[in-house]
Amino acid sequence: MIASTTMSKSEQFIALEDQFGAHNYHPLPVVLERGEGVFVFDVDGKKYYDFLSAYSAVNQGHCHPHIIGALIEQSKKLTLTSRAFHNNRLGKFEQFATSFFGYDKLLPMNTGAEAVETSIKIARKWGYEVKEIEENSAQIVVCENNFHGRTTTIISFSNDPVARKNFGPFTGGFLKIPYDNADALEDVLKSNPNIAAFLVEPIQGEAGVYVPSDDYLLKCKALCEKYNVLLMVDEIQTGIGRTGRLLASCGNCSCAEKNCSQTPAVKADILILGKALSGGVYPVSAVLADDHIMSVIGPGNHGSTFGGNPVAAAVAIAALEVVRDERLAENADRLGQLFRKKMKEYIATSQIVKLVRGKGLLNAIVINEDKSSNAAWEICLGLRDRGLLAKPTHGNIIRFAPPLVMTEAQLLDCLRIITATLTDFEPV
Ligand SMILES: *Cc1c(COP(=O)(O)O)cnc(C)c1O
Repeated sequence: MIASTTMSKSEQFIALEDQFGAHNYHPLPVVLERGEGVFVFDVDGKKYYDFLSAYSAVNQGHCHPHIIGALIEQSKKLTLTSRAFHNNRLGKFEQFATSFFGYDKLLPMNTGAEAVETSIKIARKWGYEVKEIEENSAQIVVCENNFHGRTTTIISFSNDPVARKNFGPFTGGFLKIPYDNADALEDVLKSNPNIAAFLVEPIQGEAGVYVPSDDYLLKCKALCEKYNVLLMVDEIQTGIGRTGRLLASCGNCSCAEKNCSQTPAVKADILILGKALSGGVYPVSAVLADDHIMSVIGPGNHGSTFGGNPVAAAVAIAALEVVRDERLAENADRLGQLFRKKMKEYIATSQIVKLVRGKGLLNAIVINEDKSSNAAWEICLGLRDRGLLAKPTHGNIIRFAPPLVMTEAQLLDCLRIITATLTDFEPV
């Protein structure tokens, strides 16, 4: 399709992407040009509630003035030095973030996938140099239906056929076990002395917001300690307030004390962050660990030209300040409970929605259709028409993850939009 003047503005922009862009996504047909807080606006000025938040990167809301202020101020002074030289922002960010999350050291990268790659490299090196696993035989345990990004190594341990097909040969050294099954973890750990690490998501977001049993991570932590294996927690999607606490696995951080008491706290040996670490303003990711682990990395072992650049450092500090100062974790906790309560009331008499699940403001509903049906997509188009943007995942699941700066009145407005749309799809 070629852009023509008979098309609407949106159709023209979509046609351009279609013609000149690789087709590696299947976006909902809506073209956005502006964002503010919980809202985004399309090219015709129509306003929508954003219920995806760029896969939880925009937890702090679109174009948060404090974060944008830091971006503008720093980008006028110095944007990139590479790590060949020091800069006057990186150390401040490392100090701020390590004390925020309770770790000795931080290694900065840009995208989530890079941070996962980094954690895999640290774990392997630790496996050889500290655990004394025989060279080239370290294994990392991962979970079925995981999502950790899109690099060749990461898709090597995915079990999504669409993500993998015809991208081989794959990287070896990964063992897959069922999610939310501590017994399966123990079985593999006790029979294999070559395991360096266990990589896990506290909630499987991409898989469809699968929340494990309350004590799952705690059991994993105990098993990893017992077998001298690193627990690597991927909080790229669940972290930074999204699930109603600073981290879904919340460890010894002061800012989320109130929420940490709700379920037992687990401190990951290696914590992986991305997405909302920058409030969606700039690609910033990070791996955090204590000295006895991070010290395996020396000069020349790993790096990134943009990782730890001064703009990223300034933006990330500002993004974390917003989460702390606006108490976004607490807000997510409170609004998430309200959301699931109201959705459950609707579901009690619904034919089309099977269930709601989630934690904080990371939630999903499951549509009562087989995976091949188009109902979830059609519902998302209906939501769009009523002014709310969400995207189906795995056919019949719709994820609901608005920015955490939402107010209760806004959430109730959104629930009206969602239930009215769903009602249109109920069988008569
Ligand atoms: C998004 C995501 C990633 C990958 O992050 P990118 O920035 O897209 O590379 C990794 N793990 C989880 C859990 C994610 O949600």
